[in-house]
Amino acid sequence: MLVDNHNRKINYLRLAVTDRCNLRCNYCMPSEGIEFVKNNKLLTIDELSKISEVLVGQGIDKIRITGGEPFVRKDLMVLLQKLSALDGLNDISVTTNATLIGPYIDELKALGIKNVNVSLDAINRETFERITRRNQFDTVHNNLIRLITEGFNVRINFIVLEGQNEQDIIPILELMKHYNVSVRFLEEMPFNGGTKNFTGIKWDYKAILEHISKTYPNFEKLQSPPTSTSINYKIDGHKGTFGLIPSFSRTFCGSCNRLRVTATGDVITCLYGKPKANLREIVREKKEIEEIQNEILKAVGSRAKTGFEAQGEHSTTIFKNSMTSIGG
Ligand code: SAM
Ligand code: SF4
Repeated sequence: MLVDNHNRKINYLRLAVTDRCNLRCNYCMPSEGIEFVKNNKLLTIDELSKISEVLVGQGIDKIRITGGEPFVRKDLMVLLQKLSALDGLNDISVTTNATLIGPYIDELKALGIKNVNVSLDAINRETFERITRRNQFDTVHNNLIRLITEGFNVRINFIVLEGQNEQDIIPILELMKHYNVSVRFLEEMPFNGGTKNFTGIKWDYKAILEHISKTYPNFEKLQSPPTSTSINYKIDGHKGTFGLIPSFSRTFCGSCNRLRVTATGDVITCLYGKPKANLREIVREKKEIEEIQNEILKAVGSRAKTGFEAQGEHSTTIFKNSMTSIGG
């Protein structure tokens, strides 16, 4: 079992499979994109699979596939097949912008992968296109409805962006009222490829809750697992739930059970900190498994206690990195 230097059990891996993406969400990267890494720096499917296998051996029982956009990787399903065969891995999930998932829905189902997080920050076409800088609204909408109606466990991630999509907070709850879906509102984080400075955000989780409660005063707080990053609620008469994720306020660090491996093999123990190791060459050179295990143990053994402490690893508040490189 992996236990960090603050006695937190680590059993959840967020594995980025690419830094490429077919959208250009303005809170994630500049319109021209970022400097994507060279192909030979990206882990191959075998390498991603090897790292996962080692980590599962060390006690990881839940893997979320992220990116970049995972489905831009043509060989993604090969990785998912390999992961599905890993003993000890109880939960495989995917975070996606839902533009390219359509052709893979049946295969995901067949593999038993039912947890899909769809990032959707607007219910209005114009807002969607302004934020993502692409015209994929209909495709995303259709795929989302298909995932829901085909019985996937769908969670919508909606980043609340000042001056951009706050007018869609209530409508998305209204739209999802009859579906068994969790709509999670996230605070914006400073990982956008260095396009803006961050001193604070208007839409923190408290402001979002206050806004929602003006329209829906009758809601109840739900019990959530101790490692959950979302505070969850149910509105009277709604089939699904909604959640608030204090991703910028960082109230959940005390129970953080996550480890991140990027598409280039960086090991990240906190989104706000710097990478603690890189596994690519160790895996590529086919060194002993113990070497991979030791790198992971070292990284996990030197985790910052909170996201605020981890942020201190950077010398500036303007983060140059983009969420597409670290996986979210
Ligand atoms: N492309 C996929 C997607 O959008 O779902 C997966 C990768 S994306 C980087 C993972 C998550 O990070 C998404 O839910 C996205 O909305 C979120 N994200 C990206 N940039 C962010 C930022 N600056 N602040 C908060 N969340 C962000
Ligand atoms: Fe792409 Fe996801 Fe970033 Fe949007 S948030 S640009 S979909 S990686």
